[in-house]
Amino acid sequence: MRFSEIIGQEKLKSKLIVGVKNGRIPHAQLFLGKSGFGGLPLALAYAQYISCINPTDSDSCGECSSCRKMQSITHPDMHFSFPFPSDKAKKSSDLMVEWRAVLTEKPYVNLPDWMSVLGAEKKQANFPIAECREIIRSLSLKPFESEYKFLVLWLPEYLGNEGNVLLKIIEEPPHNTIFLLVAENEEKILGTILSRTQSVKVPPLLVSELTEFLIKSNELTEDEATRVAHISHGDFNESQKFANGFESPFFETWRGWMALCYGRKMGELVNWADNTAQMGKESLKGFLQYGLELLRGVLVSSYSSELNTWDGSEGKFITNMNSMNLPFENLELMCNEIERSIGLIERNAQPKIVLLDLSFLITRKLKK
Ligand SMILES: [Zn+2]
Repeated sequence: MRFSEIIGQEKLKSKLIVGVKNGRIPHAQLFLGKSGFGGLPLALAYAQYISCINPTDSDSCGECSSCRKMQSITHPDMHFSFPFPSDKAKKSSDLMVEWRAVLTEKPYVNLPDWMSVLGAEKKQANFPIAECREIIRSLSLKPFESEYKFLVLWLPEYLGNEGNVLLKIIEEPPHNTIFLLVAENEEKILGTILSRTQSVKVPPLLVSELTEFLIKSNELTEDEATRVAHISHGDFNESQKFANGFESPFFETWRGWMALCYGRKMGELVNWADNTAQMGKESLKGFLQYGLELLRGVLVSSYSSELNTWDGSEGKFITNMNSMNLPFENLELMCNEIERSIGLIERNAQPKIVLLDLSFLITRKLKK
């Protein structure tokens, strides 16, 4: 991947390039930011730039033998490690066909997308011990073609205590080895790993950068693109959900839930919580996050309907909910509780209990 293929992040790109030109290439870096901000594509472009035979001042050439292999994800000195469900493979290299396809088609991939590529939406992903040993083994080889060999370690937050076997190699890597860790959530990374890496903050995309991209690639008008860029909070993945004009796949489940709460259908709410809890931890977090965005939409547009930036059935849902004239505090409390519930699910609370508690709260707060 070349830097020019990555949306925005101009400051960060030039910082990385200047580092390479001055011979300052830290041996372990952690690219930190949401998947939709572009940490993974940046790590790929950075490795390609370092090993490019004819780099320019601002990018890799895209044509030399090294660039071509980097672009087709077949470079022998580029190693990857990523989380996967243990029934799908023993090590990352068993899933290279799927991984290569994802990186080529969707380099801004996030974990739920990756799990759905593997047909494992409801499963837990991690790095089994065999994978950690494989990392050590593959990095003990000499570089084949480049001066450096790279390990792109995607989502180290899913490294459990097994990850501790990697400490020594991260601290004292074999000659000319570069670790590029790409993470979304610093707090969930083993402290021992975190302390051995230099962190590179990947910020949200600027509204102007995302707008420009959406006009070109999604063929939106300037107004549409600006609206989508605003509600996407600098996240490319979010922008694609909105730009494609489809309502979220979560919408019907959300609307159904709100209707049950509003109608105070307690028995049905218990069944609903039972079923919805089955969607798996990552999807459930996505679902609640989505609902939170919708409710925030209600909050914001309670000041003025002009501020309702959603359209289609989601926009109508927000308008309808606004016409209920719920007290501001009720909406705010619902938002806070949903946010808190996402945290609880994150920390492995029982999804069904969390959903039931939320249902009871929302049932009360949907009345004036
Ligand atoms: Zn090149």
